[in-house]
Amino acid sequence: MRGGSFTDTVVAELAPHLPLLPHCRAALLNGMTLTGDPAAGPDVVETPRAVAARCAVAILHADGRVGHASRVRTARRVHYRVDVPDGGPAVTPGNCCRRSRLRGAFMALGSVNRPDRPPHLEIPTRDAAAAAQLIADLVALEVPAVVRMRRARPVVTVRSAAAVGAALSSMGAQGGRLAFEEGRVVRDVRAAVNRTLNAETANLRRTVYAAVRQLEAADRLAADTRRWDALPPALRAAGALRRAHPDAALESLAVHAGISRSAMAGRLRRLVEAADA
Ligand SMILES: [Zn+2]
Repeated sequence: MRGGSFTDTVVAELAPHLPLLPHCRAALLNGMTLTGDPAAGPDVVETPRAVAARCAVAILHADGRVGHASRVRTARRVHYRVDVPDGGPAVTPGNCCRRSRLRGAFMALGSVNRPDRPPHLEIPTRDAAAAAQLIADLVALEVPAVVRMRRARPVVTVRSAAAVGAALSSMGAQGGRLAFEEGRVVRDVRAAVNRTLNAETANLRRTVYAAVRQLEAADRLAADTRRWDALPPALRAAGALRRAHPDAALESLAVHAGISRSAMAGRLRRLVEAADA
């Protein structure tokens, strides 16, 4: 899945803000290591995003550690690689660190569908243990998520609109959350309008078709004086009204005749039956 510019927007929103507390910074860095290539090992941040690599380096530096990003050219594209040396601040089991870890993992490799597309947020992970860690974080933050396998790699996936919104907020992407919710409203309204239009189009088609049949019936009966004169006066009046107002809605014919809508509908139905008899 490619989230396109919306993913970039969310990453750009997250990247400049280093967590204030050392444990949360360590958790963010830990999250970034969860998405790397399985072959690269657990103490490496590997990401196609320069902005994420820069964030990893900034975290190392903030804690007085050594770190730099190197460009790695693979067969398909450029990656950035940041080695994470042993030691440094410890990650806590608190929700602060869970949010930071998700944020790091998303920045490194996550993606999210544009707000006007079906809700979908995902983070490909290094291995099953990495996926289990992110799932545990999401569950602790009350965001339902599942693991799907793609090319033998576990992908942490969030799929309902409510869950994608909650995941964006949990990671600290409030701007992304707002844009997502706006898009969701637009999407829901558009779906509702389409449903209404479809229903109204069907109704209109039925109405027009009925009017055409009534007009044909009235014309056919009127062309034959004997049959026309043999009609009950109420049907003859209804037929004359339809011929005088071919496009009129049933309601307005009923008003012309001073009878109820259902009475007019009944007379026109019997008129059509008389013509077909
Ligand atoms: Zn923390």
